[in-house]
Amino acid sequence: MIRSSKLPNVGTTIFSVMSKLAQESSAINLSQGFPDFPIDEKLSELTHAAMKAGHNQYAPMPGLPALREAIAAKVERLYGFSYDPDTEVTVTAGATQALFTALGAIVRTGDEVVIIDPAYDCYAPSVELFGGLPVHVRLGNDMRFDAEALRSAITPRTRVLMINTPHNPAGTILRDADMRAITDILRGTDIILISDEVYEHLVFDREPHASAIRYPELRDRAFVVYSFGKVFHATGWKMGYLLAPKALMAEFRKVHQFNVFSVNAPMQVALAEYLGDPLHYETLPRFYQAKRDRFLIGLRASPFEPLPCEGSYFQLADYSKVSDEPDLIFAKRLATEHGVAAIPLSPFYKDPPSGQRILRFCFAKQDETLDDALERLCAI
Ligand code: PMP
Ligand code: GLN
Repeated sequence: MIRSSKLPNVGTTIFSVMSKLAQESSAINLSQGFPDFPIDEKLSELTHAAMKAGHNQYAPMPGLPALREAIAAKVERLYGFSYDPDTEVTVTAGATQALFTALGAIVRTGDEVVIIDPAYDCYAPSVELFGGLPVHVRLGNDMRFDAEALRSAITPRTRVLMINTPHNPAGTILRDADMRAITDILRGTDIILISDEVYEHLVFDREPHASAIRYPELRDRAFVVYSFGKVFHATGWKMGYLLAPKALMAEFRKVHQFNVFSVNAPMQVALAEYLGDPLHYETLPRFYQAKRDRFLIGLRASPFEPLPCEGSYFQLADYSKVSDEPDLIFAKRLATEHGVAAIPLSPFYKDPPSGQRILRFCFAKQDETLDDALERLCAI
């Protein structure tokens, strides 16, 4: 029998709660982050072909060599650094498993792990499961990185720093100056960096993606995490990968092999070929920027006040002009009474700022879906 919960404060994730409510109340679902349009027919065909060709048994533990080579080639092309596909690239069951396994490989009881709130919901519970202590700092004004807040959270017990750019749920990005500040803060410590870059291609207004890979002092101590779900509109595939220097990767794989051992074989065969064509990801910033702009322009005609969105597929909006209810209550009412489901921000904080009235809207949707949702928001 269960003596006491290992995660006493964890319930069902806000994503499941809001998607279920959206379904039950037939609301337009701009809550959980997933596209409502299909994957590329070509990718679908490659996957079917891989299955028909018999690639249906266990893949090698770290991932199919051809896929690891394709990943290494893509990363070198984008960020100018070459990871060794044999020893420094591992294919994972999505970014969630990569994050969990990386924490499992590193965190010991009592280790502090610095998390920047609002933070993606799996970070803190994963740290706690391995006996770590999440130390929460906050983004600053306009949801932008605050170097001083980070500096003051670092102690001799800090084992890991988790960063995320573009940021979910904030929609802001880390810039070169931020990465340099992080480099300064970590210099001279043995802190490991976990850099969650699942939205690497969703950076807007011609800004570069400030990947940790571009910064030698950071990448030498970093697990860098990606998700094919975000890149190829296939969140249900739960496919991703992790990059790390050889010594870190060796520790990661010790856990990975007993965590999942290996991940979907036919998808790996398909992705190995599909990834070879840069067009399949180079078009993404423009594609999603057009959606951000469409949603943003529409939102400006509503009583919701948008916050800056520099990347990701999430737009934050302040609803103070509409209601002074707490965000979870308002989000539920927005879904049931006005037919638009969004995500309240407070579940992304250890201590939500009092009086904050912000919802997150996912704009990874067909234009018609966005227009219908905007019509409803403008009618409030
Ligand atoms: N990190 C962030 C910031 C995310 O938004 C998500 C959700 N997609 C994940 C990790 C998990 O990605 P995956 O679905 O590949 O596990
Ligand atoms: N990453 C998605 C989001 O932020 C949700 C993934 C999930 O439901 N776990 O909405």
